[in-house]
Amino acid sequence: MMEITPRDQCCGCEACANICPKNCISFKMDAEGFFMPEIDPAMCVNCGLCKKVCPANSSARYNGKSNSVYAAWALDDKIRTSSSSGGLYSVFAQDILDRGGIVNGTVFNGEQILIHDLFETPEGVASCRGSKYVQSRAGMIYRETKKHLDAGRQVLFLSTPCQVDALYRFLGKDYENLTTCDLLCHGTPSPGFFQQILSRTAPDHGKLHNITFRDVTGWGVYAIKAQSPSGEINETSIDRIYTKTFLAGLTLRKNCYACPYATGRRVADLTIGDFWGLGRYRHFRHDTSKGVSVVLVNSAKGQALLDRVKDRLFLEKRAFSEARRENHQLYRPVSKPSGRETFYQDAAELPPEDLLRKYKLNPTKTGTLFRKILTFPFRAVRKIFRVTVKALNLMDRP
Ligand SMILES: Cc1cc2nc3c(=O)[nH]c(=O)nc-3n(C[C@H](O)[C@H](O)[C@H](O)COP(=O)(O)OP(=O)(O)OC[C@H]3O[C@@H](n4cnc5c(N)ncnc54)[C@H](O)[C@@H]3O)c2cc1C
Ligand code: SF4
Ligand code: SF4
Ligand code: SF4
Repeated sequence: MMEITPRDQCCGCEACANICPKNCISFKMDAEGFFMPEIDPAMCVNCGLCKKVCPANSSARYNGKSNSVYAAWALDDKIRTSSSSGGLYSVFAQDILDRGGIVNGTVFNGEQILIHDLFETPEGVASCRGSKYVQSRAGMIYRETKKHLDAGRQVLFLSTPCQVDALYRFLGKDYENLTTCDLLCHGTPSPGFFQQILSRTAPDHGKLHNITFRDVTGWGVYAIKAQSPSGEINETSIDRIYTKTFLAGLTLRKNCYACPYATGRRVADLTIGDFWGLGRYRHFRHDTSKGVSVVLVNSAKGQALLDRVKDRLFLEKRAFSEARRENHQLYRPVSKPSGRETFYQDAAELPPEDLLRKYKLNPTKTGTLFRKILTFPFRAVRKIFRVTVKALNLMDRP
């Protein structure tokens, strides 16, 4: 059967299915629970468009290197505290809605598969708030987006960089009325694994709603929570296998370990993410406990959007070097852990406690003590460094 690109290089962006004139590419879950393209050979006319549009078959299309970097958050506390970082998505989206436009976003369908759709109301935008750490299905979102662009509407397309790149490749030309925003992206676990974890946690997982991956009571706390007909489901009350393996990089799609978008060169007009490490190396005198985003401005269009919304945001210019310090997505992809090749098979077969033990996700007290002794010299030097930086910052204060 014809292969559009080797399977371990496919990012699952679905640009191939969007461009296929015969609609003969469908997506099926593989053994690890990732969606992979499959061509119906009886319908294919060998036009080659799928291979041509595929981002894995040529170099990434970068929009530019970020000119300015900001620490930012929405001044509206309700938006800020119900978003994953600083609520920038909602503020950008509202600007496009105010101009009669339409924005894309992601929501879970009845089978708890994350899907893309287009929204034109504040309620629709609010329903997409929050990072969902699972691969989303683009479906026919690029075709739908093109229809609105061709009709002359303002469109904001915000997603993972591979999906933003896929949109540009599908469109094949620049649109003045399109503004894009990419996320700093760690990588995505499989939708099949997510379903498996949900069904173990809540047998009626199809009826779950308000699924969140970050605890909105404090910025930077990761755990799945959801509402079920019988009450709240909280991953922290069980083993947190999903969250721990995601953060350890054990469950990412294979191509994510060689992601060409994990760089300071960006594909979209704007880039947003969490501003990890803000204030640790250079003084920052505001409270970030309710969430803070990093924003990279990569084009004139991105700057124009940021200028329009500046009254709705806290914004402070920072250095790119500070942003990249604790966000390695700005210079390299996640390294592939040695257990990645066996993890998904083990996850299907082993009970949770054996899985946690095998992949060392539940450190024993002895292990923790041993690690503390080994890393003592490094931690002591780091502590001295931080105390010195803090003292210098205090001397700098106006
Ligand atoms: C899979 C993934 C990995 C990430 N990794 C990092 C990282 O390593 N470092 C970092 O600094 N930031 C990372 N982020 C970005 C960060 O978590 C926030 O999503 C981002 O800062 C936007 O936050 P916000 O408060 O502006 O908006 P929010 O209100 O949190 O809005 C989130 C927006 O992202 C979209 N979205 C959510 N999940 C997905 C998804 N799976 N696929 C496509 N779009 C999605 C929503 O539709 C919405 O448009 C990641 C996000 C995702 C989805
Ligand atoms: S070669 Fe053309 S017809 Fe065949 S799957 Fe690819 S896009 Fe579709
Ligand atoms: S276009 Fe996207 S989904 Fe299709 S084969 Fe290429 S990378 Fe995979
Ligand atoms: S890590 Fe790269 S390839 Fe993987 S989902 Fe993120 S942007 Fe796409």
